[in-house]
Amino acid sequence: MSGVCYHPVRRNHQRFFQGFPIGFQLGIDLGGSKLAIAIADPDGRLIAHKTRPSRFSGDPEADLSAIAADAADLVSESGLTASDFDAAGLSVPGPIDHERGAILDPPNLPGWQEVPLRARMSELLGLPVRLENDANAAALAEWHYGAGRGAHNLVYLTMSTGVGAGLILDDRLYRGHRGRASEFGHACVEWEGERCGCGRRGCLEAYLGGAAWTRRLREITPTTSRVCVLAGDRGLVLPEHVVAAAGEGDAFAREEMGRFNHYLARAIAALTFALAPEVVVLGTIAAAAGEKLCFEPVRALVDAQVWPTLRDGMRIVPSGLGDKLPYYAGVCAAIDGLAGSLSD
Ligand SMILES: [Zn+2]
Repeated sequence: MSGVCYHPVRRNHQRFFQGFPIGFQLGIDLGGSKLAIAIADPDGRLIAHKTRPSRFSGDPEADLSAIAADAADLVSESGLTASDFDAAGLSVPGPIDHERGAILDPPNLPGWQEVPLRARMSELLGLPVRLENDANAAALAEWHYGAGRGAHNLVYLTMSTGVGAGLILDDRLYRGHRGRASEFGHACVEWEGERCGCGRRGCLEAYLGGAAWTRRLREITPTTSRVCVLAGDRGLVLPEHVVAAAGEGDAFAREEMGRFNHYLARAIAALTFALAPEVVVLGTIAAAAGEKLCFEPVRALVDAQVWPTLRDGMRIVPSGLGDKLPYYAGVCAAIDGLAGSLSD
């Protein structure tokens, strides 16, 4: 499925972001299942966006050319040219080698490790390109535009195909040594636990990640469960069917949500002791599950594990951007690069 949305373009604006002049920004979010492309005007408003399924042909060069062609189409359909833009932001899964402008060991993008992503996309688009890890880009998006506006310390946890944590600490994105922070999804939560896509065992991602959960569900979902009925077949079961069936009271689905919430609370408790965030923003599966199925039980589990002095005043909330998050993530990758990051 794909969708395109346009708003009228306002030209000849020049605003400043943290002292840097900005024009239009092109944002691209390369997800494990969806590609999202967006254009933000100089006021930071989305004026056009589209999404389509991600296609990984095994030939990254061909895939990048297709992504650039889709982005160029959106630019020209919006009545703009490359010269209207300051930069393109590219939000990608996996840790980034900022020196080479490439993704390092992307567990969900086999074959992309040695691809000079920043340089090649810059050639194809005719724009400077800034790379950002997708969890970092999403944390920036929720901080600038979403549920974390005004916070000084924010944790964003994404649980889509993979799991990542983006950190805003003391009013800036935290990238860590060599820009390699945000891989909390591969923190071990069970020493001899489930196999993870990264090759190790017991990673948080093996319990909360959409890809891992989907594999598990397709092996263990009882055929009599409402989950299977909603999916049509056990081989087609997805986490969203568990969420829907749990909402209807299905016992297996409730058990699976309980397991998900348990590991999510473990992650939040560990992050809280380390970072003392004001707000923990949860995206994707948690946001889709909502208050009753996820947020209320997770808050209670965290309450039981975290000292009241740290828990006091800390909010655990769903993404404020919902399905627009990937668009803002791509745009924020470009904007934060303008504010002086490692990416240039
Ligand atoms: Zn892992």
